[in-house]
Amino acid sequence: MSCPVRARVESELTQEIQPVRGMNDVLPTEIGAWQTIEGAARALLAAYGYQEIRIPVLERTELFKRAIGEYTDVVEKEMYTFVDLGGDSLTLRPEATAGVMRALISNGMLRGQRHKLWCMGPMFRHEKPQKGRYRQFHQINVEAVGMPGPDVDVELVALTARLWRRLGIEGLRLEVNSLGSPEARHAYREKLVEYFRARYERLDADSRRRLEGNPLRILDSKNPDLRELIDGAPVLTDHLDPQSREHFQVLCASLDGLGIPFRVNPRLVRGLDYYSRTVFEWITDALGAQDAVCSGGRYDGLIAQLGGEATPGIGFAMGVERLVALLTQAGRVQPSPAADVYIVVSGSRATASGVALAERLRDELPSRRFELNLGGGNFKAQFRRADRSGAAIALILGDDELERGVASLKPLRREAGQSESPLPDLAAAIEAALAGPAGQP
Ligand code: ATP
Ligand code: MG
Repeated sequence: MSCPVRARVESELTQEIQPVRGMNDVLPTEIGAWQTIEGAARALLAAYGYQEIRIPVLERTELFKRAIGEYTDVVEKEMYTFVDLGGDSLTLRPEATAGVMRALISNGMLRGQRHKLWCMGPMFRHEKPQKGRYRQFHQINVEAVGMPGPDVDVELVALTARLWRRLGIEGLRLEVNSLGSPEARHAYREKLVEYFRARYERLDADSRRRLEGNPLRILDSKNPDLRELIDGAPVLTDHLDPQSREHFQVLCASLDGLGIPFRVNPRLVRGLDYYSRTVFEWITDALGAQDAVCSGGRYDGLIAQLGGEATPGIGFAMGVERLVALLTQAGRVQPSPAADVYIVVSGSRATASGVALAERLRDELPSRRFELNLGGGNFKAQFRRADRSGAAIALILGDDELERGVASLKPLRREAGQSESPLPDLAAAIEAALAGPAGQP
């Protein structure tokens, strides 16, 4: 007799499990662009003297509240926060700078030292998923700690410009601004509050709340209805302290000197609270509304704010998904290299010795790619797989060849006959076949 409850439970158990919204799989067909970007960044950062650091994806919630600021989109509404089994409030990192600074403090790495660091990995924000905006996304983060700039500010921008050149990504525009010192920003803040308070009825609910907590955040609002109001607001660059003004002038002059075009955008305040002085962003017109591909700035007060010894710092983060989209659109993704040799095995004895032969050849020719036919199949099926693998040559081992102590080689990408080689000499024969008659496989 069938039991309806059990039937229901069983059908639930076999139901397809859905992925989490806004969190993507990166498939083998897409991985080439990721590896190109990660590889280029890794090589370039090493060349500029940056070292990799790896930090946890979970941190105490307090870290992000203190570092990013309570009145930011990220902390107000985007964090994945939960209480763990031990009763601690933890948060999946929405960005990396706070964690890297926490790591420097926790590991006693400040004390007047300098650090040039980078890390890469997933970040988590509970945003509305759309093209170029996800709930799990990836960043490459770069941080320079212990140097007041502006030389390091300039070098970091130059590094990013070089990365775009190396990747062949064109059409990115650089925007820069200065947020000044905390004191100058404080004075500016009063002006801003005065301006928005006089126009209170035009503000949206988020902005009204921020008016008291952090009015600068209003400038960062993505609400198009506020655009005009924000455009009329007092400009921070007009209220810079003399040192910040000088810092900013050197930055701009140096970028000019390097031939890196930029635009000063006085509305660029960046979405996180910890920035001071230099902020910059690389933006694109090629990705629709999600136009920022790399954003950063100076955060001189952050480390002290987290309980560490006051130390200046500057950093930026690149959004890997957005760079992947640009690279793919530009057709700059290299196809992953095919196998050099596909090993076809036929007959029971040859099949049984296939793995050993492939392993021996991998020992002898470590830089060559061998793909062994796995899972059987007749001759025709194996040749079809060999062809699809993109391999330059097929190595054929049948029982009768094994008996005679030979294997056959057949070029797959050019008109040429099959040749035989004694098993001990296979490595040399493969190299010769790969080189082809005129050095062409
Ligand atoms: P946006 O204005 O697009 O929300 P942001 O100012 O919040 O960006 P940052 O916190 O500075 O972004 O992060 C640095 C980079 O990370 C951004 O320039 C962007 O390329 C990428 N990024 C940020 N949020 C997302 C997301 N939800 N999905 C994909 N990439 C993102
Ligand atoms: Mg954002």
